[in-house]
Amino acid sequence: MSTQVPQALRIRPATAADVAGIVQLLARAGRGGKGAVLVLHHSDQGNERALRNRTLDGCLLLAEIQGKLAGIAGIDLAQAALSDLVVGTVPHKSTVVDALLAGALLERAERLALAFGVLHLRVAVTAGTIPWFLPRAYRPGQAVAGAASLEDGASLHVLTRSLRRRQTRYARLVARIGEELGIPGNYGQLHRLQLQNEAGNLHSIGLDVFGREQRMAPRAAAAWQRMSRAAVTQGIELQPVSAWRSVSYQQGLVQRKLEKGLALDAILQVSAAPGYSEHHTGRAIDITSPGCTALAEEFAHSPAFRWLQRHAPGFGFELSFPRRNRHKLAYEPWHWCFRN
Ligand SMILES: [Zn+2]
Repeated sequence: MSTQVPQALRIRPATAADVAGIVQLLARAGRGGKGAVLVLHHSDQGNERALRNRTLDGCLLLAEIQGKLAGIAGIDLAQAALSDLVVGTVPHKSTVVDALLAGALLERAERLALAFGVLHLRVAVTAGTIPWFLPRAYRPGQAVAGAASLEDGASLHVLTRSLRRRQTRYARLVARIGEELGIPGNYGQLHRLQLQNEAGNLHSIGLDVFGREQRMAPRAAAAWQRMSRAAVTQGIELQPVSAWRSVSYQQGLVQRKLEKGLALDAILQVSAAPGYSEHHTGRAIDITSPGCTALAEEFAHSPAFRWLQRHAPGFGFELSFPRRNRHKLAYEPWHWCFRN
């Protein structure tokens, strides 16, 4: 099927800069409007703030054909549901292409849901679109209390699909470890954290502040070296505390804290669940500076932190967990991730 989708098709996560275009496309498509193969639900129409929030979590996907916006798929993490699937506006007119485009978008949206650990995906659709979903393994689900209905009076039918068979071996391993540690199955969904793959190729960045060798993914390692050298020329010494960590290392970390009698909730405030830590990718690094206690909030008051705030983005590093972050995790001024 995918071979028939136009070659110029590109599906990518939306950014904040796309929001205005999305609002326009939703308005043009209209619910069940002409040219729209599928319009499930777009209560976000006109609600730019809600759309912006979902771009932060990567939960909105855009399909572009020849660089023009041709479709949208969205995941509502709180509901574990496909919230939008809109296709068929510009720049083509063929319903065949529209159906293929919708299929490609749905496929990517399912993969995205799985990345957040969602195993059952819901959709609320009008009766007319049910036949499109049935061959795609969606089954009539439980009617939801106070079931939604469209403004024009058409009622919505809830379908669900189990994504278990689409789970990767890695995702299954992470789920099993999480279960053993007592971590809730909807951890990724709750904290808006995606599974992080373990890096295979790693380069040494030398010794950390405790004398242990640390490694990072090649491009992140090179960026770290450039950044720490630039800091030195301005009188700032950046020291690594921890960079790449495997899933089993993270598992041991949580396990040891549990054995010390710490509550799981408290542990998960400061340590990501195994499988969900950016450290697995080799792109994240915990940083300290002489005179600071490693991994303590006081780092936020150091000249090194002020230097990072100003200069780290120029080297491709971003602070992952600022104060009051949307992941509902503790403030970590020391944790920077290479996102370039
Ligand atoms: Zn960290």
